[in-house]
Amino acid sequence: MNFNSIPKIILKEGREKSILRKHPWIFSGAIRWAEKDLGIGDTVAVLSSDQDLLGYGAYSPFSQIRCRMWKFSHNDDPQFSEEILKQILRQRLLNCLHTRQRDINLIESDAYRLVHAESDRLPGLIVDVYRDVVAIQFLSCGVEKYRDDIVNSIQEFLSPNMIYERSDAEVRRLEGLSDREGVLIGNHNPSRIMITENKTKFYVDIAKGQKTGFYLDQRENRSKIRAYSRGKDVLDCFSYTGSFSINALAGGANKATVVDSSDESLKGLIQNTALNGISDEKIEIIHADVFNQLRSFRDQRREFDLVILDPPKFAPTRKQAHQAARGYKDINLLSLKLLKPGGILFTFSCSGGVDQSLFQKIVAGAAVDAGVDLQFIGGMTQASDHPILSSFPEGEYLKGLICRKL
Ligand code: SAH
Repeated sequence: MNFNSIPKIILKEGREKSILRKHPWIFSGAIRWAEKDLGIGDTVAVLSSDQDLLGYGAYSPFSQIRCRMWKFSHNDDPQFSEEILKQILRQRLLNCLHTRQRDINLIESDAYRLVHAESDRLPGLIVDVYRDVVAIQFLSCGVEKYRDDIVNSIQEFLSPNMIYERSDAEVRRLEGLSDREGVLIGNHNPSRIMITENKTKFYVDIAKGQKTGFYLDQRENRSKIRAYSRGKDVLDCFSYTGSFSINALAGGANKATVVDSSDESLKGLIQNTALNGISDEKIEIIHADVFNQLRSFRDQRREFDLVILDPPKFAPTRKQAHQAARGYKDINLLSLKLLKPGGILFTFSCSGGVDQSLFQKIVAGAAVDAGVDLQFIGGMTQASDHPILSSFPEGEYLKGLICRKL
């Protein structure tokens, strides 16, 4: 079967450029003509304004991202069909499994991201493995349409004890899809999955936790913090369930002070400290807004040797970058003031709209305003199981700096 039997969309003149460079998104404004009555997730052949075949994608009638590419192709290679697409999906899932099994030390860490959406050439699909349990998110019309095939392949490849769906993210609404959550396969308590990461243990709540339950993207950065922790008084801001603090204590920290504004997160943290045999005097738990708490610490003249700042996304897109910059500057400035001379700051941004160089400028500006001399002694990014496809720079979102106050 060739593409003549597949519904078509035709791009405006010049708008084929990004597709020729294998960027997977087509915005609504780039489309000159689309076949009538295309449904949610329908497979379309994508043609240039000269009617050259560019590839195949999943049509999303309500989203600004009107089409996400499944495969790039050209006039000499027009073969495509539903069957071919299903084989491609299966092959890509298998490829994800092979790369993760090869690149992650699964003996020390049994939780990892198996599929990272666009960057694994499976737009809109997130699959996280928590030991013998899988959490899955279908975030675009295309993967939604092949949900059963994808779930069946995962079941076949991994035979997990449970597959739990967490398709409850905001982006689904942009796709015209409603939330869906619950057990797809198996029978397990989704709120108490125990995982091992770098030889520390955590309970993960994949039903109610943030993201799919755990910030797997910070795994490599959490292991880095151990080397800076021995004998230190640590302040862990935006702690969630305590993963940075528990790693710092595993690295020999004297004490960790954690701050988070969510009750649920801190309940999880208390369970996790017990799970790792951490005694109460090693951890001080503060339920507060970080912006306010940093000011209270300043007024109390509290000091720390190591501060971690891992806030939620302040700027999902470039448009909010300016506003976000103020938030980042504020917390970094206050943290620098709380650090003892020689102290270390681990500071992160997971805002897609703030890139590494802007983030570094913001932190440098915070140092000027705090009146401190600061050295950048390391850069950080998302863990290797959250890859960045070279044709899709939008896949890079987490950036971090290790800084030393002089
Ligand atoms: N460092 C964590 C992930 C942090 S996620 C880890 O590696 O697991 C961000 C956390 O910040 C969430 O737990 C959220 O509850 C908390 N949070 C968001 N806004 C906050 C605020 N203004 N003050 C305190 N905590 C906040």
